[in-house]
Amino acid sequence: QAKEKGGNQITLYDDQYKAHLEQNFIIHSGLLNALKEDQLSLFLQAKYNADTSLAGAEALLRWQHPEKGMISPGLFIPIAEKSDLIVDLGDWILAQSLAWLESTPVEDSFQLSVNISPRQFMRTDFVTKLEALMAKYHTRPSQLVLEVTESLFIDDIDEVKQKMLSLTELGVQFSIDDFGTGYSSLAYIRSLPVQELKIDRSFISEIGQDKGARALVEVIVAIARHMGFRIVAEGVETREQVELLNSMGAMVLQGFYFARPQAASDWSVK
Ligand code: C2E
Ligand code: MG
Ligand code: MG
Ligand code: MG
Repeated sequence: QAKEKGGNQITLYDDQYKAHLEQNFIIHSGLLNALKEDQLSLFLQAKYNADTSLAGAEALLRWQHPEKGMISPGLFIPIAEKSDLIVDLGDWILAQSLAWLESTPVEDSFQLSVNISPRQFMRTDFVTKLEALMAKYHTRPSQLVLEVTESLFIDDIDEVKQKMLSLTELGVQFSIDDFGTGYSSLAYIRSLPVQELKIDRSFISEIGQDKGARALVEVIVAIARHMGFRIVAEGVETREQVELLNSMGAMVLQGFYFARPQAASDWSVK
């Protein structure tokens, strides 16, 4: 009987795996179509300084599917990242972001953050393509921040560092997104040209209830500040979190408490 059960389980997992592959295939081909059919759009989420002035915004991709409605990047980015499709999506969002920055009146201090996937960053022509886009849209390099995750550092680190250096020499900045969820230490990040750390939402969401999470964020913030990093807290949702974060010193705050991501075409400065 056990054997029979085991057999059934294998079939079940098999079927689930097949369904999973089919789902990925549908999303992948749907995305190819989305690029062609103009179903993608640029959304922006504002970020604020401790004094509540506008610090900048983060560019976030959205997929408006004609039948399924809005599909979350949390669902389709990981699938796009499995192939060069992420390079096409990445090129698209970069061009949209820089075009928006050129055509929108913002302060010189306004910084636009764009998420960059490891596969996109590792392309040999990433730096030249970005430079060409920045020239086309007259981008002030100091207004562009590239958000990368710690997973980039498991790639060829010498090449990663070299590319980061050539971009920072131009004046572009780097931010470590979802900081704290990966394996890299502050000591390691110090050896890279990085200007900003974005503390992951999972820590921020717990600082109200969990003393341990609060202590952890306090220590990360204190060390990061002493090391000269700009600090961003992501996923700030409550007044209590704002107060706790402000008590830890000046940092940039981003989250639903302040502003939800909004269509770039609807952008209004607050
Ligand atoms: P991320 O870069 O860490 O972006 C922050 C995510 O948290 C966004 O989700 C944002 O809408 C969400 N968020 C912001 N504030 C709050 C809050 O207060 N509470 C909660 N619960 N969530 C908040 P989104 O737009 O769904 O994007 C998810 C992820 O998809 C991003 O995480 C990023 O890793 C990826 N992604 C989005 N757009 C792009 C893109 O253009 N290129 C690449 N490579 N990845 C992208
Ligand atoms: Mg991000
Ligand atoms: Mg993040
Ligand atoms: Mg995150």
